[in-house]
Amino acid sequence: MVTRKDIEAGLREIGLSKGDVVVVHSSLSSFGRVDGGAKAVVDAILAVIGDEGTLVVPTFTYGQSVYDPDESPSLMGAIPEEVRTRPNALRSLHPTHSVAAIGSLADVFTEGHEKVHPFARGSALFKVLQARGKILQLGTTHTTSSIIHVAEEIAAVPYLDRSRYVEYKTPQGKSAHKWVRRPGCSRGFDVLEEALQEADAIRETMIGESRVKLMSARAVVDAAVELLKFDQEGLLCDQPDCEVCAEARAMVAATEAEKQDKEITELAEEEERLRRVIETRLSGGELKYFEIDDGDHSPN
Ligand SMILES: [Zn+2]
Repeated sequence: MVTRKDIEAGLREIGLSKGDVVVVHSSLSSFGRVDGGAKAVVDAILAVIGDEGTLVVPTFTYGQSVYDPDESPSLMGAIPEEVRTRPNALRSLHPTHSVAAIGSLADVFTEGHEKVHPFARGSALFKVLQARGKILQLGTTHTTSSIIHVAEEIAAVPYLDRSRYVEYKTPQGKSAHKWVRRPGCSRGFDVLEEALQEADAIRETMIGESRVKLMSARAVVDAAVELLKFDQEGLLCDQPDCEVCAEARAMVAATEAEKQDKEITELAEEEERLRRVIETRLSGGELKYFEIDDGDHSPN
């Protein structure tokens, strides 16, 4: 049986400390049995980061129902739900990718999230990156590490612009709807593990049966942006049935084809311009550039 004290000790061992901003991705069942359940896990994290720290968890709803920030449960498991339902938690108003946060920067991270794309500049996790936050994985892998979507925004990959129609309630309780950008597939994100291990960017330990990993948001984003620089499809998964990644690859290919078309057009335009210059000069309309002055100034 894992206790709150075991969890605190494990988190300190891998470098979580007072004042940290930390995004937690979690599988409660990965620990085996926890004395006190999700509540004990959240208490342990908050005890380690202290009042100066800030805990952020995804409380995504994916637009599956009308988003009501006060009521809609997250679809992310027991630990985010424990955070979301605490009286001192704040939740962002983003209708598909809200987060809940507790701590000194909770208001900063949650405010204005609904005004931007889920992971764009101004979003909760983009601000976590700017605040030098850490990513804590409790029995999870990079496939749930949403900060990697921030990297996709920074790298401006061609497959960002997919959207879905969502309904939500405003803080005043009015019904509203809009089109919201839909982030890509994350099933291929474990491809970053090797680069992060090579960079010695991950600290890990076992707490009960859970493999627990801590890393800086910056290290993860840097690794992802570096990968995307060389391969825009580098974070897409290789599951043959993944329609999202198939669509993303088509968008990358279309952007590439567009770029090539533009280059070909530019090349053709440049050739046409040169052809006109040559024609003009050969017909004597301009300086006789193609006549070689060989010093023979005979009347002919
Ligand atoms: Zn996929």
